[in-house]
Amino acid sequence: MRTDRDAMEYDVVIVGGGPSGLSAAIRLKQLAEQAGREISVCLLEKGSEIGAHILSGAVIEPKALAELFPDWQERGAPLNTPAGEDRLLFLSQGGSFKLPTPPQMSNHGNYIVSLGNVCRWLG
Ligand SMILES: Cc1cc2nc3c(=O)[nH]c(=O)nc-3n(C[C@H](O)[C@H](O)[C@H](O)COP(=O)(O)OP(=O)(O)OC[C@H]3O[C@@H](n4cnc5c(N)ncnc54)[C@H](O)[C@@H]3O)c2cc1C
Repeated sequence: MRTDRDAMEYDVVIVGGGPSGLSAAIRLKQLAEQAGREISVCLLEKGSEIGAHILSGAVIEPKALAELFPDWQERGAPLNTPAGEDRLLFLSQGGSFKLPTPPQMSNHGNYIVSLGNVCRWLG
């Protein structure tokens, strides 16, 4: 082992501060707290800050967030715009045709968000 470098020890290292890495880190800390244990979790993100490399605007289904934080609304999670209406359109050169929205593409109960902001909040 090189001795001219700092070394920091953690119980868990997670690479990537996107929704998956952040959720994994939060859940691990929650489980440790429930078990009355202390664990150190290090989350490595290549962006200049959490959310900086999360470019997608997104419509998200909040079920997983609610499992992580049942009180996400009171905590102020940035899910502020409920999806109001679904329109599935077939686009042609001169116009569009409305098609029925398949049930699996329905966004009822979902939210239009900036995923970068959701990640910053999770961070
Ligand atoms: C254009 C687009 C539109 C989308 N629209 C939707 C939508 O409407 N609804 C929906 O639910 N999903 C949508 N998705 C999918 C959603 O964005 C992904 O499912 C989700 O972001 C995956 O999360 P993740 O944490 O696994 O990965 P990512 O979000 O990709 O996060 C990975 C993180 O890891 C960091 N990273 C990567 N490599 C390293 C490294 N070597 N070291 C340190 N950090 C690293 C990155 O900077 C990033 O912050 C969309 C995706 C795209 C691209």
